[in-house]
Amino acid sequence: MEFTEFDLDSTIMAGVSNAGYVTPTPIQAQAMPHALKGRDVMGLAQTGTGKTAAFVLPILNRLIKSRNRRVRALIIAPTRELAEQTREAARSLGKKTGLRSVSVYGGVNIKPQIQKIRSGVEIVVACPGRLLDHIGQATISLKHLEVLVLDEADRMLDMGFLPDIRKIIKHIPSKRQTMLFSATMPDDIRKLANDVLKDPVTIQIDHKKPLNTVAHALFPVRQHLKTGLLRALLRDINSESVLVFTRTKHRAKRVGLMLQKDGYSAASLQGNLSQARRQEALDGFRAGKYQILVATDIAARGIDVSCISHVINYDIPDTADAYTHRIGRTGRAAKNGDAFTFVTDEDKDMVLSIERVLKEKVERRTLEGFDYNKPKPSRNIEFSRPPRARQAKRTNSSKKASSARVWTKVPAAKRGANVRKSFSRVVRTSGK
Ligand code: AMP
Repeated sequence: MEFTEFDLDSTIMAGVSNAGYVTPTPIQAQAMPHALKGRDVMGLAQTGTGKTAAFVLPILNRLIKSRNRRVRALIIAPTRELAEQTREAARSLGKKTGLRSVSVYGGVNIKPQIQKIRSGVEIVVACPGRLLDHIGQATISLKHLEVLVLDEADRMLDMGFLPDIRKIIKHIPSKRQTMLFSATMPDDIRKLANDVLKDPVTIQIDHKKPLNTVAHALFPVRQHLKTGLLRALLRDINSESVLVFTRTKHRAKRVGLMLQKDGYSAASLQGNLSQARRQEALDGFRAGKYQILVATDIAARGIDVSCISHVINYDIPDTADAYTHRIGRTGRAAKNGDAFTFVTDEDKDMVLSIERVLKEKVERRTLEGFDYNKPKPSRNIEFSRPPRARQAKRTNSSKKASSARVWTKVPAAKRGANVRKSFSRVVRTSGK
């Protein structure tokens, strides 16, 4: 199948060609013919499958028939990053259409959003909380809305957004097209789908399995050796851009700083950062300014950076679904990628649950030359905090100096210049 078969407006086809899309992905091939006819769609698809264009292109094709600067399409997304990314897709695919869009989320000044909406936009990509603020302040009108998209609905459920979504829907005309995308289908999402979709077509894209362009492996390791293993892996892999996931914000920050000290261009992305710094980290990673991004799960879903060569789970995620989402950050849109997960003895149950969901055993690997028997130091210097008594006395400004002192105790590691070696030469496979 080719994009030309959808009979999209020529201005939209210009955007498709400009994005370099030739063949529709399975979710596009299956969902778009229905979406273009105005049908409601329930899409069970994980990120990386091309689902954004599967709803953005039909929206553009519908709206272009009358550009009237009223809000006619609303896409609700769980995170600011995903909202920004989806808006960017709408902007670039619709570049020649003359349609206007805005992204609306919290953590930034509301005034520019109000001005943009007032100036006239057809497409709004919003996070639920800030959208409700706009509705409450009457700075947005949804009464002309024709299309509603709920993207990553299961993630919105996890984040506790369902009540907000139900409130928002009360302000939207009931005569509309609705598309709901979710990677999983827990009962609450099924119920929401029943309430908001009318006679939908359901499209399911192999949502449990990681993309088959991803090779993934587990690296059994003791907790105190994870940092050393990360450093050793980074030195040995042929990495273009690496996304490292940690369980906590604190650890994302620490690992990011450590890698910077090692000489890598690295940034961290975690919820304690201001929106401006989150965006800077993400944009810098996307543009290649940062080779390594260390992130908590806020970056796991929806974030589209097309050239991630490796995902490294410094900590195993909490659910099997989160695992497939995280490793879905690499190998997107038919590029190959590797995903490595550090696992400790305590992670055994989670490994079993991941393997049960994937219906396959994940390969175990060891890194040749790495000392897996190194004893645990009496105190883990890299991640230890200053003693409590000293901590309590510190002022805010001395806090920074003290955490820097912790870092100077990290043994000088080799710089990250020799990352171009072939990974296959240094990794021994220990069977499936
Ligand atoms: P998504 O799942 O929407 O986040 O998309 C994942 C990646 O696939 C993005 O980088 C898209 O630009 C890219 N993509 C979407 N559709 C196509 C297509 N038909 N051909 C090639 N790449 C695509």
